[in-house]
Amino acid sequence: MISRTDLRGALPEDLRHVLPRAELDVEAALEKVRPICEDVHHRGVAAVREWTARFDGVELGSTRVPAEAVSHALAGLDPRVRAALEESIRRARLVHRDQRRTDVTTRVVPGGTVTERWVPVERVGLYVPGGQAVYPSSVVMNVVPAQEAGVASLAVTSPAQKEFGGLPHPAILAACALLGVDEVYAVGGAQAVAMFAYGTEECAPVNLVTGPGNIWVAAAKRLLKGRIGIDSEAGPTEIAILADATADPAHVAADLISQAEHDQIAAAVLVTDSPELADAVEKELPGQVAATKHSARIAEALSGRQSGILLVDDLEAGLRVVDAYAAEHLEIHTADAAALAARVRNAGAIFVGPYAPVSLGDYLAGSNHVLPTGGCACHSSGLSVQTFLRGIHVVEYDREALAGAAAHVSVLADAEDLPAHGAAVRARFAPGELPALTD
Ligand code: NAD
Repeated sequence: MISRTDLRGALPEDLRHVLPRAELDVEAALEKVRPICEDVHHRGVAAVREWTARFDGVELGSTRVPAEAVSHALAGLDPRVRAALEESIRRARLVHRDQRRTDVTTRVVPGGTVTERWVPVERVGLYVPGGQAVYPSSVVMNVVPAQEAGVASLAVTSPAQKEFGGLPHPAILAACALLGVDEVYAVGGAQAVAMFAYGTEECAPVNLVTGPGNIWVAAAKRLLKGRIGIDSEAGPTEIAILADATADPAHVAADLISQAEHDQIAAAVLVTDSPELADAVEKELPGQVAATKHSARIAEALSGRQSGILLVDDLEAGLRVVDAYAAEHLEIHTADAAALAARVRNAGAIFVGPYAPVSLGDYLAGSNHVLPTGGCACHSSGLSVQTFLRGIHVVEYDREALAGAAAHVSVLADAEDLPAHGAAVRARFAPGELPALTD
């Protein structure tokens, strides 16, 4: 059901080549989504409708969900789901509110300051997946940081669902209503990202697109990055678990399965120095997989080349492996989990010890579940308030402070063969007024 690779004795420099990765990667999906994005660019809403009919089997009237449908969904929401969503929102707000930035002013010289002023992005498009599973939790994870950052204009999109009359899933609409979002579109996949990037007759273009999605969504984000800002590439889910002999194999197996449940190309990787634990987890998996609802999808994800058990010499080697892998989610089930967690350099989010499973983070830890995948955790962060802010440098120098910098500016401008730069500074002063450069 899951492959095993023995990395005992492997050299650190070999690790990158032996780590399990999916066959279908974002780079390979780019060519597939390019014509979709170009079509939406040139033909607007007509193209969005046609691609939606093709991939989602829905003939859309308007791509925009009527405001009454959003409020109606909240009225029909199961009260238990409503209570859970409200608690999820409350915890997410606690964490994200603390991420707000304050402006910082640095006095560089007397009379000369630089302030970093944090300004929210004006209009954002938030993607909420809804293909194989529906994710009202992703509404919370997108909207809460955007609101806490102070974003003024915020639109949500999620795939049209045939069984719900071509609207997004009602739980997604209800989550939007709970958060006070009324601009919602029934569009998924690459065509949704293109709709946000280029705008259509029914949707004004946005400055930034965030949110998780499948390989097609991640590829469209990569393709359109530059025209729009994006968060990280939050594609098909990954879990890596670093565990020693103290780990409970039933918990480890359950957590691997829980993330494999997202997608048949989701990745589930166990890194352990204990052959006994590896054996026990291998033994646990078939029974647990058979007992769960989406067993076929999970079995495909676990047996894919992106998943596997990696046996290492010791936990030091295990740390090197998880850093090289840079998982979206990293769980640590070892005797000294907190100490090891403190040493991890590359991961989207780290879940420490036996009582912090990824499922908690998916819904209710307060942390964000929109996290970088495909190794992007070595250069990108998960969604946060920071994603929705831009830092603008505000430069204020008075006459004396500029006079004190003028000679250095002139020298550097000449060194770059851009003498007009120096002249622009000197033009503000009478000849002989500026101090000469001393070394
Ligand atoms: P989705 O909304 O991402 O994708 C569904 C859309 O894909 C459809 O609307 C359709 O238009 C498009 N599509 C389907 N087949 C296509 C094809 N062959 N070519 C082009 N477009 C096609 O929903 P999903 O499929 O359920 O995927 C959700 C993904 O989000 C999962 O992979 C899950 O692991 C991931 N996820 C990631 C994170 C994260 O933070 N990294 C968080 C939650 C979910």
